[in-house]
Amino acid sequence: FLCPAHTPDGGPCGLLSHLSLKGSVLAYEAKAEREDAPPLEDLLLSLGVTRAGAGAPGGRTVSSHSLLPVCIDGRIIGGASSVDCKRIAVCLRELKVETKPRVPATMEVAFIPPGNKGSPFPGLYLFTLSARMVRPVLQRATGKTEYIGPLEQGFMDIACLDEDIREGVTTHQELDPTNMLSLIANLTPFSDQNQSPRNMYQCQMGKQTMGTPAHSLHYRNDNKLYRLLTPQAPLVQTTIHSEYKMDEYPNGTNAVIAVMSYTGFDMEDAMILNKGSYDRGFAHATIYKTVDINLDDVAQKEGYREAVFTNKNRHGEIEKLEPDGFPSAGMKVTEGDPLYAVGDAAGGGDPYVAKHKDKEDAFVQNVRMLGGDTPSDKLKASLTLRLPRNPVIGDKFSSRHGQKGVLSILWPQSDMPFTESGITPDILFNPHGFPSRMTIGMLVEMMAAKSGSCHGFYQNGTPFAFHESGDQVSIDYFGEQLQAAGYNYYGSEPLYSGVSGCIMHADLYIGVVYYQRLRHMVSDKYQVRATGPTNQLTRQPIKGRKKGGGIRLGEMERDSLLSHGAAFLMHDRLLNCSDRHIAYACCRCGDLLNPSTERSTLQTAGQSAAEAMNKPRLRLLCRNPACREASQTETGNDDAVEPLIMPYVYRYLVNELAAMNVGMKLDIR
Ligand SMILES: [Zn+2]
Repeated sequence: FLCPAHTPDGGPCGLLSHLSLKGSVLAYEAKAEREDAPPLEDLLLSLGVTRAGAGAPGGRTVSSHSLLPVCIDGRIIGGASSVDCKRIAVCLRELKVETKPRVPATMEVAFIPPGNKGSPFPGLYLFTLSARMVRPVLQRATGKTEYIGPLEQGFMDIACLDEDIREGVTTHQELDPTNMLSLIANLTPFSDQNQSPRNMYQCQMGKQTMGTPAHSLHYRNDNKLYRLLTPQAPLVQTTIHSEYKMDEYPNGTNAVIAVMSYTGFDMEDAMILNKGSYDRGFAHATIYKTVDINLDDVAQKEGYREAVFTNKNRHGEIEKLEPDGFPSAGMKVTEGDPLYAVGDAAGGGDPYVAKHKDKEDAFVQNVRMLGGDTPSDKLKASLTLRLPRNPVIGDKFSSRHGQKGVLSILWPQSDMPFTESGITPDILFNPHGFPSRMTIGMLVEMMAAKSGSCHGFYQNGTPFAFHESGDQVSIDYFGEQLQAAGYNYYGSEPLYSGVSGCIMHADLYIGVVYYQRLRHMVSDKYQVRATGPTNQLTRQPIKGRKKGGGIRLGEMERDSLLSHGAAFLMHDRLLNCSDRHIAYACCRCGDLLNPSTERSTLQTAGQSAAEAMNKPRLRLLCRNPACREASQTETGNDDAVEPLIMPYVYRYLVNELAAMNVGMKLDIR
């Protein structure tokens, strides 16, 4: 019922599940298809159930010692012996798969036989209500498809493959072994040959690809849409791929990849991309962003009686806007450019001009007026912007086997390694990505897609189609195809260095893999700050990428610096680059709040009144009465008051505590 691979790892693992391919949740109460079907209760009584409760002869209740309870949707109908219950269950299953069944076809018939201590309460439980999970299996006796539920499944004998059938015991068989996987999990080719966590990762990433979200893009105004501009159908497909018309919504590109470490740019899950492939359009993509404008909202905000789109202000026409108040389609807008202008229909005054706030340049994809036919009906408009997002260093890619990586460099095609026939790979994949991850499915996909591209057909990569032994070994199947095309049986080839032109000492594994571009892009994530906005209260830098904030150096990072003895670095991070502050403290009384300044009569002598106003000469003193007494000077600085470097939050803390009648004294030496 639920896919074992399609669930997130970490916290919600197993709690956030996905239905398997053929599993479904019933939205309606199950009804018998035949019109003259007898009520289920009567049918059960005719099959030999003894009625219980008010309708029973003499109001007899079912005794659990002799009879097992028979329930419909949790309501006890009557009782029957264990043997009778089993017979009734078999009979009901036969009725379920009739062409026009007398009982609901999706009814769950759970017969729980009396078992040992700890087994569920025995009885015959029938369920017909909605909100139940059902899935189809093959009923071997009739050869028809029966819908079963989760409770009965545990007490049924369902074989997966033909070889699992035990004659006389097995009553049902799976329609297909791939039915246990969800749609997304079913799109991973050869997923049966991967380590299972990798299939889980792919289920996560398959949903983050930039692909083909819709074909009605021109009519849609989604907030944000990702679109791959050069998508391809995968060379290795599963049966589900065509069944669910995934060819209409491709979400990746077939890339020639060579498994090799070439320079240091493919270390730690980084991948080298052929610049030639990039120039030819590999993984080019765009983002569509739509701004919705409601004239009524603007009118209310700006206090217009009636708002209209306009491009006129007091000085004439607003630059870059058309008479309809919008930029023309196809125009490039940079930060600060007007997106639309709304003015008062009565005229006069400057209109409200909305600006492009993004630092990234965008193009106007389309402008749509929403409303009726008459001009006065135009109450809303939507403006779609297109942001070109071609791959840049740091963008994320992944194969369909949970093998994600970031683009580390666009390598010139002339310096890429090449095969004897002159093929340069699109992507260089580091071989260290395989041993610990054990994504054999990706290795097989490389062979399969390579032979498929040689012979000119799509390969079937449906999981469980091959076996690891016998005459159905995937490597042999595709190896023979490769050999027939004149390639090495195992898919490796000698490669020549693109830099020196020398042949490389070892043959390299090279093939074709379907690569997905994931929607995590550096241009959405990079964060940079030298100095910038700070929190008013604490004077510490604020957080947040959008606001130009910093990245928190938290407790754990502090611990790490401590453990390395990097005291100077920590001082720099936590004080100098944060809320460094100079406060005056009194060394005599140790107070941070009493030291103050006042105009010095002595030092002000000779200053003109205007000078004293603009640039008064101040003297430092401690306002603590005891300190005033002890101070040597009446006019000059109090020698006991010293400047002190501290984090501003510390001073703030002293103030807060003082407000609660807690005094803090510093012992300054
Ligand atoms: Zn003092």
